[in-house]
Amino acid sequence: MTCKANSAVLPKWQESDANACVVDYCKNLMDTARKESCGKCVLCREGTWQVYEIIKDITEGNGQSEDFELLLEILEQMDKNAKCEMSRTAASICIDLMKAHEEEWDKHIRRKRCSNLVCKGTYTVYVDPQLCDGCGKCLESCPHGAIAGKAGMIHVINPNMCSKSMICMSVCPKGAIKKAGAVKPKLPSEPVPVGSFDQPSAGQEGETMMRRRRRR
Ligand code: SF4
Ligand code: SF4
Repeated sequence: MTCKANSAVLPKWQESDANACVVDYCKNLMDTARKESCGKCVLCREGTWQVYEIIKDITEGNGQSEDFELLLEILEQMDKNAKCEMSRTAASICIDLMKAHEEEWDKHIRRKRCSNLVCKGTYTVYVDPQLCDGCGKCLESCPHGAIAGKAGMIHVINPNMCSKSMICMSVCPKGAIKKAGAVKPKLPSEPVPVGSFDQPSAGQEGETMMRRRRRR
């Protein structure tokens, strides 16, 4: 029986999308391929599943140093020997994007970083204390009770309870909910009255600059 899976179902990589992440795209590509696989060809059935699981681990900040080579090994097998056109196409797209964006893959695997803060394991979600007006909309929207606060207080997200659903970001009228990567901003540890949390003063910023200059 001929496999009916068709590469037309695969998501397209948008090279021009400056906010996209190539690793996240490849995860979604393989997720689609494994779900569409008819399952008759082992390379397609097992290969798409294995590649998806490895890339998913990478996006969650659990990449291993050998993952890049391992992925290429599996994908090259799929590209050459999988029976269906969809599986070969998915493998070929993934190989090309790994080779073209090797530095970004390395950043994800070794440094657990994502340039555009797309991959869940590479960022935390926080409330910008300078923008929050204490309206409480985020607190009501959070499905995990990860946000603390009340009217007129700067709200605070507990990173240990946050699933990164980003629902709060979509409801905040002030654009106060943001993602932080390697550089973590200074934040209150618990809700404080709106307007009471200071930014570093000009003098403090000057001191920081001085310290940076001395270290050169
Ligand atoms: S929705 Fe935005 S402005 Fe309102 S409390 Fe939450 S973070 Fe602050
Ligand atoms: S990202 Fe989702 S889980 Fe995290 S604080 Fe916002 S609504 Fe809650």
